[in-house]
Amino acid sequence: MSLITPVRHSSIIDGCCTPDRLEITRTLSHAAFGPLQQALVTPMGRSGLPVQRAQRAAADMIVYGKIATGDASNPTADAMAIKGGNIIGIGSASDVEGLKDPTTQIVDGGDGFIVPGFVEPHMHLWSTVLADSWLNCSAIENPTFDDVVAKLKAEAANTAAGDWVQGQLFDPSLYPGEPELTRAILDQVSTEHPVGVLNASMHYLYVNSKALELAGVTEETPDPPGGFFGKTDGKLNGIVGESGAILKFMAVIPQRSQAQLAAGLIDIMNKAASVGVTSMREGLTGAVMGPGEFSLLTQLNAANRLPVRISTAQHAMLGNEAWASAGVTPGAGDDMVRAVAWKVLSDGSNQGRSGYMRDAYVGQPDNRGHANMDIEKCIELIKEGHNAGWQVMTHANGDAAIDMVVSAYEQALGDTADAGDHRHRIEHCSLATSEHFERMARIGVQPSFLMNHVYYWGRVFRDYIIGAERANELDSVASALAAGLRPSLHSDYSVSPMQPLLSARTAVERKLRDGGDVLNEAERVSPEAALRAVTSDAAWQVHGDDRGTLEVGKKADYALLSANPWEADPSTWADITVHETRIDGTVAWSA
Ligand SMILES: [Zn+2]
Repeated sequence: MSLITPVRHSSIIDGCCTPDRLEITRTLSHAAFGPLQQALVTPMGRSGLPVQRAQRAAADMIVYGKIATGDASNPTADAMAIKGGNIIGIGSASDVEGLKDPTTQIVDGGDGFIVPGFVEPHMHLWSTVLADSWLNCSAIENPTFDDVVAKLKAEAANTAAGDWVQGQLFDPSLYPGEPELTRAILDQVSTEHPVGVLNASMHYLYVNSKALELAGVTEETPDPPGGFFGKTDGKLNGIVGESGAILKFMAVIPQRSQAQLAAGLIDIMNKAASVGVTSMREGLTGAVMGPGEFSLLTQLNAANRLPVRISTAQHAMLGNEAWASAGVTPGAGDDMVRAVAWKVLSDGSNQGRSGYMRDAYVGQPDNRGHANMDIEKCIELIKEGHNAGWQVMTHANGDAAIDMVVSAYEQALGDTADAGDHRHRIEHCSLATSEHFERMARIGVQPSFLMNHVYYWGRVFRDYIIGAERANELDSVASALAAGLRPSLHSDYSVSPMQPLLSARTAVERKLRDGGDVLNEAERVSPEAALRAVTSDAAWQVHGDDRGTLEVGKKADYALLSANPWEADPSTWADITVHETRIDGTVAWSA
């Protein structure tokens, strides 16, 4: 997929760092995704909105059941009346009786609990779809390093002669004391098949000798701009870093057909709907195929209704002119697919030890990670997005990156009095302190936390990567709330699993997956606050004010669950199953 030619150095997703613009060498044509995906998308059938609905006052549909509204002023209801996809009445059965006529469809929630659809405020469609058919080499699925190697060997034994063995989501930070996947180890997997395994951060690809041979990379090959071919004692070690070098291999890996790509996108959306998500924010639109990514989503939606609403975050490095000339301007699209945000990437990932830190990483006295840009460039990119009318989302993981980004927002926004209702954000905002949050609150910049950092990586952060003191500051949701902010919780899928209730549970418990210790009890929040961060406050953060609670005037986007998380103990949230997910009252997914 030689889809991007970085002008200087960049990585293929988060953490890319080009001081100049990315130049897209291949974009999607409208024609390419015409009839193809139309055949692929399973029709979902809108539940027959009556033709005469404009002429009558009655509801198209009334849903009876145990409803948790997420609205603190009216937390439960027994009936919800829906018209044109919007809630026109909610309360007791008698409250909505007057909205019924003989054509009103009746829906019975049965034993389930109806809750507002979850909002996933930061995930990735494009980097996920590129590799989603590859073997899952994550530490979540593979408890030990040896499990990963065994899985790759089994795959090689089942792969046709000479074909690629491909893995994704490998994260050496979660196997402390173990080696990385070097060429020598991958040669033990196979010398017949080319083997390539992507790091979970997408900043590294691990390859064997056969893959190096196919890509034509030898000890004499110079490092390309924006990448390197790792060497140990002058010999290639199979560790390929950053997109300039990774693209050499992507060029010889068989590309997914456009039909597969369209089907893969729908798969990811169905996955989101299956965990009760009704709206999500794509976190870096344009990084793989340029502005055509937005038109592909609108075409997929035109072909048939998508199972989840999507708002997009346009890659700032492409430049607003490129987006505008492709017709992608703030607010472009419709209620299902809308262009809303502007994405700036200020540093790398803390677990990859490339997040930009005030002090060195544990055991690496010379490594403070790195910023992808200086503050002047950061201000320029924020201003470009803000002045064009975009909501700006700036990725910042390390404490030094957050120092820079908070200052950049302050300088870019200047007098906050006329800054407006921008709801600009800092993404991950992993090591922000109370002082950062207070400054953010003054200029209306909101944090969105990758809450699974605490659950999945908390132990290695504390014990191996940043030490206990900094690890305690990870995802300080309570401090953000205390500063008057409205934080949201995201998965960064496929960096971590998309499971809104589990992210919310971690905000409440702050338990580590390994060992169950609690990481900084002081940053625990109430179950209500955690649920707001995956419903109403997340909706507000994606400019989806018509979603996030079940109230009159809002969209009838809801999930039917096996229990009510507003009443159930958070320790049981992991057991809650999703029976059905609806958008505008219409079934988008069912178990
Ligand atoms: Zn991201």
